Amino acid sequence: MSRGLLLAIESSCDETGVALLDGSRRIVAEAVASQVALHAGTGGIVPELAARAHLRWIDPALDEVLAAAGATLADVGAVAATAGPGLAGSLLVGLSYGKALAWALDVPLVGVNHLEGHLYAAWLLDPGEAERPEPPFPLVALVVSGGHTFLVEMRDHLAYRLLGETVDDAAGEAFDKAGRLLGLGYPGGPAIARAAEAAPGRPERLPRAWLGASYDFSFSGLKTALRRLVEAELAAAGLPPAEEGGRLPAGRVAALAAGFQASVVDVLATKTLRAAEDVGARAIVVGGGVASNAALRARLAAGAGALGVDLVIPRPGLCTDNGAMIGAAGARRLAAGERAGLDLGVRAAWPLARPAGAPGSRRPPTRGATARAYAALRDAEADAAGKVAR
Ligand code: ADP
Ligand code: MG
Repeated sequence: MSRGLLLAIESSCDETGVALLDGSRRIVAEAVASQVALHAGTGGIVPELAARAHLRWIDPALDEVLAAAGATLADVGAVAATAGPGLAGSLLVGLSYGKALAWALDVPLVGVNHLEGHLYAAWLLDPGEAERPEPPFPLVALVVSGGHTFLVEMRDHLAYRLLGETVDDAAGEAFDKAGRLLGLGYPGGPAIARAAEAAPGRPERLPRAWLGASYDFSFSGLKTALRRLVEAELAAAGLPPAEEGGRLPAGRVAALAAGFQASVVDVLATKTLRAAEDVGARAIVVGGGVASNAALRARLAAGAGALGVDLVIPRPGLCTDNGAMIGAAGARRLAAGERAGLDLGVRAAWPLARPAGAPGSRRPPTRGATARAYAALRDAEADAAGKVAR
């Protein structure tokens, strides 16, 4: 007899994630094949290589979770796959694979927004973990990943009001760029966190972009400030620029890494806590790769404790891209009656919550490059809307 497991697939970027979930939020088994080593040489992701690696690893990842769960494909009762946002070629691999399985097994299919997955990771339970209550509404959710940084308010499942988002780099992207500048390698996030831990004295004081009372974020000024400091110190020491391999002494790298991390953490935590207070949140949930940062977790834990709100941050392995989080969001959508057809397409750009529309949300920009980007996103979405059963 079929066990009615939900098979979930993530392939939006550089991780091939496959998971089996039991019911709505309990992980039965999961596997993530990371391409970090593959892309380390170039210091960033090469899309065509990423897509090919997904194709290479998706079969073994599925075999691994089936074996770990003591299950066969006959135990799969539904399929959830990431449909966007992400690299089109990478998304196509996982979504096509999911569609083919759903068709062959004759089970329901649902396409999941990767960002919704990051958010719903906070609902997941590990295989042996004791039951615990779900995060209570209303809540504020911070998603901080390599490609995205935004803050939303949730008053119910699957409904989001955008509070703020980055106006330039994503937090993870900023960590990755700073890591490269300091010669710490890819990905920069974990490397900066490690270097910062070893900082002997005070962290270097670097700027914070508060953007007034808004909940928006900006990390490009911080990145530029760090670049200027590094280049000036390298030049003063008679060393070549960072792009040509110039490296500061380990103690300085550690102090700058600590200063960079402190600045990002300060802004992320301050705005998230202020938002929680402003909307009267009962909980804060955080997802995305940067949510595995220990300094950010500690700072939010202290702040949430002082506010008396619950804080839910998944374990680090569920913060970075994984299949289980797609299952957690997919299970919600399936429970809400959502079903996708085999004509479901990938959406390289797919904001979870739009600046315009929802009452009380920020007005979209009307001028400049950001306005043009929003307009292009809206067009792409309108275009894709017909192809997505929603
Ligand atoms: P994406 O979905 O955009 O691929 P992920 O959610 O997988 O991103 O997160 C990857 C990002 O998280 C990278 O930019 C990485 O540098 C960052 N990251 C991972 N661990 C940490 C950490 N401990 N501290 C800060 N950033 C981190
Ligand atoms: Mg991600």
